[in-house]
Amino acid sequence: MRTPLIAGNWKMNGSTALVEAFGKVFSQPGLPVNVDVTIHPPFPYLEAARRAFADTRLTLGAQTLNPLHSGAHTGEVSGGMLKELGVEYVLIGHSERRKLYRESDDHVCDRVLAALSAGIKPILCVGETLEERDAGRTMEVVLQQVGHVMAPLEPAQRARLAIAYEPVWAIGTGRTATPEQAQEVMAGIRHYQAGYDEELAQQLRLLYGGSMNAKNAAELLAQPDIDGGLVGGASLKAEDFYAICQSA
Ligand code: PEP
Repeated sequence: MRTPLIAGNWKMNGSTALVEAFGKVFSQPGLPVNVDVTIHPPFPYLEAARRAFADTRLTLGAQTLNPLHSGAHTGEVSGGMLKELGVEYVLIGHSERRKLYRESDDHVCDRVLAALSAGIKPILCVGETLEERDAGRTMEVVLQQVGHVMAPLEPAQRARLAIAYEPVWAIGTGRTATPEQAQEVMAGIRHYQAGYDEELAQQLRLLYGGSMNAKNAAELLAQPDIDGGLVGGASLKAEDFYAICQSA
């Protein structure tokens, strides 16, 4: 019922050569018919990626955006600019941005609204730290992050959002949440969404992120509430990422 979505977050990594390698690997047949795939390279590679991915199933993603349309904001990029480059998805609220660039839930919410008004689908990233998990606060923290963004949205806007559950302790650490741990939180997010609208909750795509790789992807993606993955490190090798997409 829900089309799986696999998103590759290159973070501040990559090169023109990597863009081209992805174009080549993803021009092979062999992906499941029913999977959406998006690559989120750094901004300078978006145009090269648009050209290299033209004959593939890869779509374009960005890693963040500024909530404003234009103006005196040196170094920033707006949703309208990304849309013009063909960007379909944007990551918002990644834990690295929350921590390193002090993005609060309010900033995250503004960016989600800006993406939606630019016609770009937001992938809202949420997740707890290890201290929060150990204190038994996982669901409280995750639902607070989700709720802060969902509350002001209209139903039609909610329908365009995907949510990536990324336990902070699993990102880039090689320590993956067990399929059961991930499923428990994803089911909690879907249940929360059902409080707004049962039908939308059933359509909501929930991605798992945190050291997903070609070996553990199939088991995670087999969970009933996991509809895809947000992949960091393992999205930097075209063959590995292709193998993850094949598990979807
Ligand atoms: C991420 O950056 O969102 C991520 C999940 O990274 P990794 O797969 O490397 O843990």
